[in-house]
Amino acid sequence: MKIIVSHDVDNLTRKEHSKDLIVIKMIIRAFLELFLFRINLFTFSSRLSCIIKNNFTNIDELVKFDVKYNTKATYFFATSNDNTLAYKAEAPKVYVQTIIKNNLNVGIHGIAFDDIQKMKDEYIRFTKIHNINDIGIRMHYLRKNNNTFSYMKNIGYLFDTTEYSPELKQPYITDEGLIEIPFHVMDSYLFQDKGLQKYNLKYAIEFTQKIIDSNYDKNIVFNINLHQEYFSNGWKDWKDWYIWLVTYCHSKKIEFISYQEVVDELTAKQNRYKEHILTK
Ligand SMILES: [Zn+2]
Repeated sequence: MKIIVSHDVDNLTRKEHSKDLIVIKMIIRAFLELFLFRINLFTFSSRLSCIIKNNFTNIDELVKFDVKYNTKATYFFATSNDNTLAYKAEAPKVYVQTIIKNNLNVGIHGIAFDDIQKMKDEYIRFTKIHNINDIGIRMHYLRKNNNTFSYMKNIGYLFDTTEYSPELKQPYITDEGLIEIPFHVMDSYLFQDKGLQKYNLKYAIEFTQKIIDSNYDKNIVFNINLHQEYFSNGWKDWKDWYIWLVTYCHSKKIEFISYQEVVDELTAKQNRYKEHILTK
């Protein structure tokens, strides 16, 4: 088994949400989770403190951790907005530089999914602002329809990792010729039910460890997402789960692999297959 880790970046600050209900909902959720004993007082007060301090970013801390364990993590940043994702396309520029400087990876967190021109605009904006080409994408809220993959291929994305597969579906090339790298565990699906934290750290570790231990010897990639905003004591179970995941894989000598390496492997395999067909 090899492991891919990634971080969708949905929120950076409280202030970017002055025109939507995201932070209000976040506060209501924190109270409900406390009263339902889903989180403890420390997590609750840390979460309020993140809100008061206008800070959901955590990127410097997370980069430091990812570098320490050489996770090769990919951070996905948006370049346009919807009513849930509100930071400006330029806002993460300094973080993208930090990530790249530390030999980690970035990609696009896509908002548009059914309009090729809007999708193209997001891609061009990203390459202009960050001066980085050859990128992949994961859609915000995993939105897609029957055309999304062909639009992605057309625009020139190296890969997509929007498909969610708890059955551990492996990377493949779609009918449209796009490299799809399904992901298998997402923090919010793991911990939440009906928008509230339902499970604790112990459950999350047991759930994930079972997958790792029973697939340890297999030639597969295991693809995991932690939203960077949860690498915080305000979501302590989530943060501790990611720390456990990375240190556990490290201790078991499970190799961390980047999306780019998966793309390279699949492309080489495809080329060998084409050569084989031609020489037949
Ligand atoms: Zn998202």
